[in-house]
Amino acid sequence: MSDLITRLRSPQTMSNFTCTTDLYEEMNRQRVLAADEIERLRELMRAVVEHFRRDGDGLVDAPGHCHDVPGAWDSDNGALAGKPCAWCALWKEVIAGSKCDE
Ligand SMILES: [Zn+2]
Repeated sequence: MSDLITRLRSPQTMSNFTCTTDLYEEMNRQRVLAADEIERLRELMRAVVEHFRRDGDGLVDAPGHCHDVPGAWDSDNGALAGKPCAWCALWKEVIAGSKCDE
């Protein structure tokens, strides 16, 4: 046991401990910055969604779209008929990312 205590108190061990502590503090600082940035982006997405929804748009399909089947191109859209609409799919992701449906 005393051997372990001696090794823990050695200058090399203390140097490693400081390094580890610095890395931990930097990682924690970066984690907080990333969390703040994610929340800022979520707030921006929420503001965009609310802007369109205030006018009654973007409630089912993406703003400016009104498909017979939500999120899918209508039968009169030629080769796109029945295929997923990329704008509506993106809008759905924005809503999910902004947590506007919570
Ligand atoms: Zn669409």
